Amino acid sequence: MSFDVAAIRAEFPILSRQVNGKPLIYLDTAASAQKPRAVIEAMVSAMENTYSNVHRGLHTLANETTELFEAARKTIADFIHAQPGEVVFTKGATEAINLVASGLGADLKPGDEILLTGMEHHANIVPWHFLRERQGVVLKFVPVLDDGQLDLEAIPALITSRTRVVAFTHMSNVLGTVNPVRQITDMAHAAGALVLVDGCQAVAHLQVDVTALDVDFYVFSAHKLYGPTGIGVLYGKAERLAALRPYQGGGEMIGSVSLDAITYADPPHRFEAGTPAIIEAIGFGAAVNWLRGQDRAAIARHEDSLYQRAREGLAGQNWLRVIGEAPGKGAILSFTMEGAHAHDVAQILDRYGVAVRAGTHCAEPLMTRFGVTSSARASFGLYNTADEVDAFVDSLIKTHAFFA
Ligand code: PLP
Repeated sequence: MSFDVAAIRAEFPILSRQVNGKPLIYLDTAASAQKPRAVIEAMVSAMENTYSNVHRGLHTLANETTELFEAARKTIADFIHAQPGEVVFTKGATEAINLVASGLGADLKPGDEILLTGMEHHANIVPWHFLRERQGVVLKFVPVLDDGQLDLEAIPALITSRTRVVAFTHMSNVLGTVNPVRQITDMAHAAGALVLVDGCQAVAHLQVDVTALDVDFYVFSAHKLYGPTGIGVLYGKAERLAALRPYQGGGEMIGSVSLDAITYADPPHRFEAGTPAIIEAIGFGAAVNWLRGQDRAAIARHEDSLYQRAREGLAGQNWLRVIGEAPGKGAILSFTMEGAHAHDVAQILDRYGVAVRAGTHCAEPLMTRFGVTSSARASFGLYNTADEVDAFVDSLIKTHAFFA
């Protein structure tokens, strides 16, 4: 399989549009990735040709849609080396983490500990804060080193006999740092703690095998994986899902209901109350199928080459501070510009057609750790080109001239 970025770009209709009279240079893939035609067409086709509600029906359309929906679950399970019964559809990574925190939380006691890291997205902090506020659970955080790596040496002392859950990101959405999931998981398991990994960023860039990683839970959203919004996944080991309390109640998740008793459906349906995001699930499956058809190792090399090219292009610009320099990091460039607010930088770049994100990136503790209130972030996806990186570098240098 060869990697041809021009051919890939041709599959993304939006990439041919202009922004402010300039060709769009989309460097915001870490926030949400653009969609290939395969995804758009799968969703349109499902609505035009087979649409119905799933599971409950006896008619042809209901059966066809249910087959597409469950086929998407199987595709996603295969993609991460799991079983379909271990893949719960959620609204996204955020809901998946809330589901686990709320399900496990009911059994936690005051003084029980949850170990997070200093580089988490709010999605992997706030649901655990609920347990701190409501139940007296203690939150601890693995520190982040100056280069953006986790302080792995600090972990053994942070895991105690009270640690119930260790929850951390596979790849930081700000720093690009890729954390050693298996190593941390082994440390957590040795102490009897469960492991939840936030795979939101990693799953788009790395080949993830949840079985080899041995994690208990792994979450991600479709929209960062070239799929639609409104859908994501909670992977849970079969025995973990079987032991987890249901999250929301309603149709689909029950075995039976009477006036004085209920029984639950088996996982994954136990955690999918109500009509699911049917069209989105089908689009999610199409995105994963599309990605599996690409040379993922070549994509990873391509993305890294874009990141390195940006770094080289910006070398020597002493007004630039890069946040996150961990070895082996993903293609995410977070930075501040001396004398300029990140929001202004992003707005000026937009005039050149360059889309970057600016703000806290939903990671306020990490911003505080690095002594900034916000940063700008250029994140590279498989459809970006070397020419786009050069145009970004050029635009950023011109942007700096506004403030110099
Ligand atoms: N975790 C990480 C590392 C993320 O980058 C994001 C999204 O920015 C999330 C969690 C939350 O994802 P979502 O908003 O799709 O639930």
